[in-house]
Amino acid sequence: MVAENYLVVKKRVEDACRRAGRNTDEVLLIAVSKTKPVSMIEDAMKAGAVDFGENKPQELRDKYEVLPKDLNWHMIGHLQKNKIKYVISRACLIHSVDTVELAEAINREAGKTDRIVPVLMEINIGNEESKFGITVEDAEENLRKMAELPNLTIKGLMAIAPFVEEPEENRGYFKQMKRLLDDLNAKEILPEPMTELSMGMTGDYEVAIEEGSTMVRVGTGIFGDRVYL
Ligand SMILES: *Cc1c(COP(=O)(O)O)cnc(C)c1O
Repeated sequence: MVAENYLVVKKRVEDACRRAGRNTDEVLLIAVSKTKPVSMIEDAMKAGAVDFGENKPQELRDKYEVLPKDLNWHMIGHLQKNKIKYVISRACLIHSVDTVELAEAINREAGKTDRIVPVLMEINIGNEESKFGITVEDAEENLRKMAELPNLTIKGLMAIAPFVEEPEENRGYFKQMKRLLDDLNAKEILPEPMTELSMGMTGDYEVAIEEGSTMVRVGTGIFGDRVYL
């Protein structure tokens, strides 16, 4: 089931790229495996999945340790400073840098082993009380502070759009994210322009791709509903 689902989502990602006049290799499909067992990750691997997303640092560590080392692990959930140590050497990208304080803590931890850690700055695009992330208004000021940290490389922006019934409702937010990325790049705050926009989940990834997403994070659409006990 998981392998079939992965292939269906992969095809829909590619179709959305074509509709948008983009190359299919411009968008990375991240299979969000949080709460799901290793056996289901192995099923997805059989269909060709290599990029997986987790939102709990210890769960990412545990799965990393038992699975082949050629997979890419994406840390996509809120990260507490005391848990940075679990993901810093294992995640290929931390999507969820939601404060300057967290960026500073990652920078310190990375400095201990002379690493340069790739990260995204998380934007609370819907201005939702319930979500982490930096507001659009504060994005430039926060990016300027993060840009000074030598052991971080800021690759782009991440957003969790509001939960909606109809994916079209989020199109405006995705457009806003793309505009924010372009505006920040135009200010030349970083040595290299940011290239990544991590946005789009099971309910809205096709719309996100049409609006410029470079990484979609799909959980339910691949692994089925999550059961939280
Ligand atoms: C769980 C999660 C996802 C995947 O959500 P689905 O709706 O199941 O596709 C994507 N991004 C983040 C940050 C998540 O926590």
